[in-house]
Amino acid sequence: MDFHVLTLFPDMVRQGLNTSIIGRAIKDGHITLNTVNIRDFSINKHNRVDDYPYGGGAGMVIQAEPVYRAWESVAKNSKAIKQGKKPRCIYLTPQGKVFHQTMVEEFAQEEELIFLCGHYEGIDERVLEEVVTDYVSIGDYVLTGGELASMVMIDAISRFVPGVLNNEESAQFESMQDNLLEYPHYTRPESWHEKEVPKVLLTGDHNKIEAWRWEQSLIRTKERRPDLLEKNKSLKVAYFSPTGGTKKAAEM
Ligand code: SAM
Repeated sequence: MDFHVLTLFPDMVRQGLNTSIIGRAIKDGHITLNTVNIRDFSINKHNRVDDYPYGGGAGMVIQAEPVYRAWESVAKNSKAIKQGKKPRCIYLTPQGKVFHQTMVEEFAQEEELIFLCGHYEGIDERVLEEVVTDYVSIGDYVLTGGELASMVMIDAISRFVPGVLNNEESAQFESMQDNLLEYPHYTRPESWHEKEVPKVLLTGDHNKIEAWRWEQSLIRTKERRPDLLEKNKSLKVAYFSPTGGTKKAAEM
């Protein structure tokens, strides 16, 4: 998977993603990260890329032309353009669809994604109309720029790129899978601050452990994110836990 990020702050994106699992994935070639500095495409002798908004009002707006040229520098070499298609270009914006796990899996099917990060008041609408294919928000709040949002998306999408997670990491059940939150985790020591690890986890009985985890997942989702259970109408049909976890959840 090739990620391109059009931004005024490329260092922020590179430094943010060059560590841990995503850093390893870049090093091992499972994903590529190409940051493009929009300022390099400035049409102003002082290298400015922003200007005052028409109609007045606070804040500055990023101009259309530098953004278009930055996009073009990537798009002209994209596989999509070679196939006569528009490359998938995501504008990070609080006005977009809110990012969620289904979108992660859908974007992960692409070979290449372009992320466009706004700053200040945003970007001239006319270039957005020309290059953007998807408007995505990472939540109902306003950030100072799209960089963190692009990093959130790249991190989440990369987890679905083959080879990025090693066997141990990818075999896990994770929160959001099937609209459930994950069960709680414990590691050594068995006793900490007079709190004991749940006995069932020490039995070595995999069926019992699986059933307990399943039940904890349901209880936790019910407590913390009941909206997810609402979405999962098929839960009662789709799952059957050996100790009756499903029955209990249905009663909750
Ligand atoms: N004036 C814009 C509005 O009200 O919709 C907000 C601009 S915001 C201060 C600057 C940039 O941060 C945006 O262009 C966008 O790229 C990014 N941004 C802010 N909040 C975001 C969010 N929730 N999700 C994704 N990107 C966001």
